[in-house]
Amino acid sequence: DLWPHPSHLLVIGDLGVGKTSIIKRYVHQNFSHYRATIGVDFALKVLHWDPETVVRLQLWDIAGQERFGNMTRVYYREVMGAFIVFDVTRPATFEAVAKWKNDLDSKLTLPNGKPVSVVLLANKCDQAKDVLMNNGLKMDQFCKEHGFVGWFETSAKENINIDEASRYLVKHILANE
Ligand code: GDP
Ligand code: MG
Repeated sequence: DLWPHPSHLLVIGDLGVGKTSIIKRYVHQNFSHYRATIGVDFALKVLHWDPETVVRLQLWDIAGQERFGNMTRVYYREVMGAFIVFDVTRPATFEAVAKWKNDLDSKLTLPNGKPVSVVLLANKCDQAKDVLMNNGLKMDQFCKEHGFVGWFETSAKENINIDEASRYLVKHILANE
């Protein structure tokens, strides 16, 4: 099957956490990169889900829009899932995660009334490997409490867990339909 329309995924989180780097890493060779007039960039990724299924993903990068309340519903309208990203070396960016999640939930539900699937990305794990591993249980608890379907330690720099996190999100989107 080929999905008729690309599935729109949002990548949000504080400035400098690595959103653009993650998207660039994920879409690397086979990508088209556009700058939308409304001030968000988007990139297209073709994901070979299984031998019979190709999934097209449109990843929205909120370039320069990293302030709460600035995101309009327009960005969220067709979104099926999201990554919320923080930087493991900067605790303040983790403290902002719940605000990003609340903002998303307040602006968006799927046409079938279900919430969109959101995966939490603890990025730059190449710089601070131990910090979160020691807090694994707390992270699981945090995700449960705030309605994330899961979380991954990622590194855009070293290409750790980006593909895995994406497959995980798509799996949840497919299950949500
Ligand atoms: P954005 O503002 O969220 O889009 O963040 P950027 O993608 O522009 O990244 C901000 C800075 O963090 C840049 O200097 C990146 O090179 C760096 N960066 C992004 N991801 C990683 C990572 O996984 N590890 C490390 N060490 N640096 C990263
Ligand atoms: Mg950026």
